[in-house]
Amino acid sequence: MFSIKVTKSKKLKPKPRPSELKFGELFTDHLFILDYNPEKEWHHPRIEPYKALSLDPACCVFHYGQSIFEGIKAYRTKQGIHIFRPQKYLERFNNSAERMCIPPLDSKLILECLKKLLRLEKNWIPTQHGTALYVRPLIISTGNFLGVRISQTYRLMIMLSPVGAYYAEGFQPVKIFVSEEHVRAVRGGVGFAKTCGNYAASLYPGEKARLRGFTQVLYLDAIERKYIEEVGTMNIFFVIEDTLITPPLTGSILPGITRDSILSMVKDLGIKTEERMISIDEVIEASRNNRLKEVFGSGTAAVVSPVSDLSYRNQTIRVNQGRVGPIAQRLFDEITAIQYRTKPDPYGWIEEV
Ligand SMILES: *Cc1c(COP(=O)(O)O)cnc(C)c1O
Repeated sequence: MFSIKVTKSKKLKPKPRPSELKFGELFTDHLFILDYNPEKEWHHPRIEPYKALSLDPACCVFHYGQSIFEGIKAYRTKQGIHIFRPQKYLERFNNSAERMCIPPLDSKLILECLKKLLRLEKNWIPTQHGTALYVRPLIISTGNFLGVRISQTYRLMIMLSPVGAYYAEGFQPVKIFVSEEHVRAVRGGVGFAKTCGNYAASLYPGEKARLRGFTQVLYLDAIERKYIEEVGTMNIFFVIEDTLITPPLTGSILPGITRDSILSMVKDLGIKTEERMISIDEVIEASRNNRLKEVFGSGTAAVVSPVSDLSYRNQTIRVNQGRVGPIAQRLFDEITAIQYRTKPDPYGWIEEV
């Protein structure tokens, strides 16, 4: 019943050299597509040449943003092709879908479709250590009407993009601006969903921070502007004395898969960990007393992203003299060792294609 029709591209694009790869600027030759309507539900799975879409200006996704996405990585090593924790990402995709009134997907079927696409595009998966194929599943609502209501039709697409080594020249610790003025999400809102509106809302504070020389914005809770939430594309971790601390999942932050991988791993590495509310004042105070040892973000793209500076209310605190701390380094090494299969995977995170 679920056969995937494959239409191959007549003209293949030239493949980039591994050293030329950046992030999200190049796409492979093919796209996976699946459509939804109320009669047939999710139907017509197919792989087609990658090309531009033709959509009506009234297409509701342009106006009201009923849309969700994911960001997953696939790898190619001597042992073959594999995906890192795909079921966990697809579970989150369905959680985002539910919040945005998008019909749920059978994640087992989607995984099979993704594997088929990866097998077709395997020569696009870079093999150099640090590189990967970024997988971007995306659902847009495709009804043509003006008026705020849910769409009756949807399209799922899976795009693939070869990405370079994030830290080809070693870790680059980032400077972060702690925003008191702007918030990202509020409890009861859509902060936990990977939906486009969250990112649209982050552009203005992000741009203001960038003009002041910062790479990212760290958001505080929307009500008291006191408790730390996340960075807007990354979850955040603090090391105070010998304890790793990260904010709990309260609905306003994105439940990162990398965050989850770190929390699973620290138990086995014997690192003391607390998932709890942490205020910006506690972080500043710990820094003053030399108890703040490390700050780093976590996300699929960079895995671990060390923070060198935190700026809050016209003061900047330097973390670990701007250097990468041992816990960030250890977690990066352990996770990437599993991802590049240089160490066994005791967690069952590797899905062979
Ligand atoms: C994707 C994302 C993250 C990181 O999640 P991972 O699953 O680790 O990639 C964190 N915050 C936001 C807002 C995100 O969109």
